[in-house]
Amino acid sequence: ARKAAAELLEDLNPAQREAVMHAGGPLLVVAGAGSGKTRVLTRRIAYLLAERGVHPGEIMAITFTNKAAAEMRERVASLVGRRGNAMWVSTFHSMCVRILRREAKTLDMSSSFSIYDSDDTKRLITLVARDLDIDPKKYAARTLAVHISNLKNELTDPDAAVANAANDLERRVAEVYVEYQRRLEAANAFDFDDLIMRTVSLLQAFPDVAEYYRRRFRHILVDEYQDTNHAQYTLVRVLAGTESDGATDTGIDPAELVVVGDADQSIYAFRGATIRNIEEFERDFPNAHTILLEQNYRSTQTILSAANAVIERNPNRRAKRLWTDSGDGEKIVGYVSDNDHDEAAFVAGEIDALAEKGEADYSDVAVFYRTNNQSRVFEEIFIRLGLPYKVVGGVRFYERREVRDMLAYLRVLSNPDDTVSLRRILNVPKRGIGDRAEAVVATHAERERITFAAALRDAVEGKVALLNPRSAKAITGFVTLLDDLGELAASGSEVHDLLEAVLERTGYRAELEESDDPQDASRVENLTELVTVAREFAEFTAEVQQDENAELVLDDGVPAPGSLAAFLERVSLVADADSIPSPDGGDEGDGGAGVVTLMTVHTAKGLEYPVVFCTGWEDGVFPHMRALGDPHELAEERRLAYVAITRARQRLYVSRALVRSAWGQPQMNPASRFLDELPPDLVDWRRLEPSSPGFGNFGSSSGSSSSGPRAATTWGRRSPSSSSTTSSSPFGKGWKDTVALKLDVGDRVSHDKYGLGTVISCDGVGPRATATIDFGASGKVRLMLIGSVPMVKL
Ligand code: ATP
Ligand code: MG
Repeated sequence: ARKAAAELLEDLNPAQREAVMHAGGPLLVVAGAGSGKTRVLTRRIAYLLAERGVHPGEIMAITFTNKAAAEMRERVASLVGRRGNAMWVSTFHSMCVRILRREAKTLDMSSSFSIYDSDDTKRLITLVARDLDIDPKKYAARTLAVHISNLKNELTDPDAAVANAANDLERRVAEVYVEYQRRLEAANAFDFDDLIMRTVSLLQAFPDVAEYYRRRFRHILVDEYQDTNHAQYTLVRVLAGTESDGATDTGIDPAELVVVGDADQSIYAFRGATIRNIEEFERDFPNAHTILLEQNYRSTQTILSAANAVIERNPNRRAKRLWTDSGDGEKIVGYVSDNDHDEAAFVAGEIDALAEKGEADYSDVAVFYRTNNQSRVFEEIFIRLGLPYKVVGGVRFYERREVRDMLAYLRVLSNPDDTVSLRRILNVPKRGIGDRAEAVVATHAERERITFAAALRDAVEGKVALLNPRSAKAITGFVTLLDDLGELAASGSEVHDLLEAVLERTGYRAELEESDDPQDASRVENLTELVTVAREFAEFTAEVQQDENAELVLDDGVPAPGSLAAFLERVSLVADADSIPSPDGGDEGDGGAGVVTLMTVHTAKGLEYPVVFCTGWEDGVFPHMRALGDPHELAEERRLAYVAITRARQRLYVSRALVRSAWGQPQMNPASRFLDELPPDLVDWRRLEPSSPGFGNFGSSSGSSSSGPRAATTWGRRSPSSSSTTSSSPFGKGWKDTVALKLDVGDRVSHDKYGLGTVISCDGVGPRATATIDFGASGKVRLMLIGSVPMVKL
């Protein structure tokens, strides 16, 4: 054990060691990027187990993403083996789901509750607002949702919101909040913010419940502490049990609390996260001890100096000294491209050149952009060049319509009270239950104060007035279908078999297969993928169960392994960061070279890569348009830039495009102010002058000066292998998403920015095609249909 302890502490500096060995009162570790904060947490867990006789079941570690949780569990497992399994290592949300499943009865909920994500939430709020006669032009559902979310993050319940409302908007929001919350509860559902808020109120209202968790968790560790919001912060405080909360009256000492964070990396202020948590930690925990870490082990001096130069521009921050002894390393490479396609071609060319020279594997490389929609151009170029890549986040698999439809079926089978899901699938695929019939049933449910599911049964029994016989018959068919599927679910059939049954018996798949819309073909593929996900889930659970040594804690809050509930829970909690390939690219199985990772800067937090491309550094893109006139938002964007730069270990690239096709319209953007903030002597500008204006001329060759064989294949030139499929389109073949989207009047579309809409007129052909689309609350918008249109036809 002696030797083990020495090993645990060996490769730590004195300040890190102090944090690992610290015992007693609360500890705050504040330190810049790459200084080993996460390493300290993992080591501390290992040290607690190995040296201080702590039982794994007494440890709760909280990370920001499920991916980070899995990584931490893995790191701890490599240090202490299977004993680590009894720990709770999870995100705030997963942890709360676990507590809530266990304590659902106390809150008058059933433990098979649904978890509503932001899309479900918006649907329900839309329904509520409509029923309350709220003008969607004045108060869009999205706006209402943001306000309600903020209230929840501040732990304001509906009654308090009503009492505090001081103006028209706040009164409207409060009114919607009250009804929304009532319907959530009736649907036996929690939204994401509820998971935290309701757990806090549970612990505050039921001292014996709180006592159970306080007795159990003697060690609480929180990573990325700067991004916790007020509700999460309160949760930590209540769980740890401080004197000021009266928790110590029960005779239980407060848990040992260690939080690590970096105020300069607070990038979720828009979600209610606040660096005030760091500043107030010392105030709320008067006996807290603070440790500063100052050595950076991740990046070269060049990268670190660039990061420091940028973040220094932010006002009101505590200055930090961050140093490294790893040497200057390579200069930062800067590149100005004609347009976004040229930028992507440059990035691809560089990646290939590095791989060719053996300086980096694909898996060493990450490409960052500010918003998800920017991934599309990179994907197009990478596919074209055969560069293996993986997008983390983006148009997420679980957000695709067909996947959501199937999950809605599964959720209804698991929780029939889940009204949002039930109404989603009521007439999907079309079975003759129209909007009118839906409204009649909904009104009946309202009047009788019963759930929508119960109202459907009333319809079957002819108890719903005003329902025409045809609709009643259709509803009977639907209810019978659900009953049959429900029987299958109850008989314990595996999730993937159940999914197959749903696809088959609803006629959902058949309908897609018969369609000639090419998008429907990819929908079928996605559904096949979903069945695969479910099958893998079953196989994985079977493996875990067979493994007799696994010390899994299955008693509390965890649905039976392999069950429908377990599957749905997993799917609900999948965060953006969860599909990041492992650093060695091992999960790709393609010979070890792995894949390039594409993601937003937000998703990149906490990660590191030898080679990082920061793209789209343009004012209006990064910093985001929204931030240009707002000093607070601008400061947050700058912290985001700091996060981006500090992910890089050896090489950093920054680039911008003169013209970018944002939302289907070419747009000229000036250079990002963050580029000007980089010390000029640290940047080697490969290209400053554009070779052509690039306007409306996306196919032009950029004359890129970068090396590498593939860099010469600029956008718009067809590669020899695909030349057999000739096309008169100037855009070449294989550009499914960039070639003019074919739309007709009356088509329904979903646009990344404007939401759902209906085409009201079409103009022009080929590259000049435009469509005018009515996006409801977002208004009528005329869009060009070339370039990377962030829009799909429904
Ligand atoms: P971020 O703020 O980005 O989350 P962090 O402070 O959590 O960064 P880590 O990810 O823990 O930093 O560490 C950064 C890198 O430095 C990792 O590769 C880690 O293994 C390495 N590292 C940390 N401490 C040491 C040390 N004492 N000796 C050698 N390497 C170290
Ligand atoms: Mg970290």
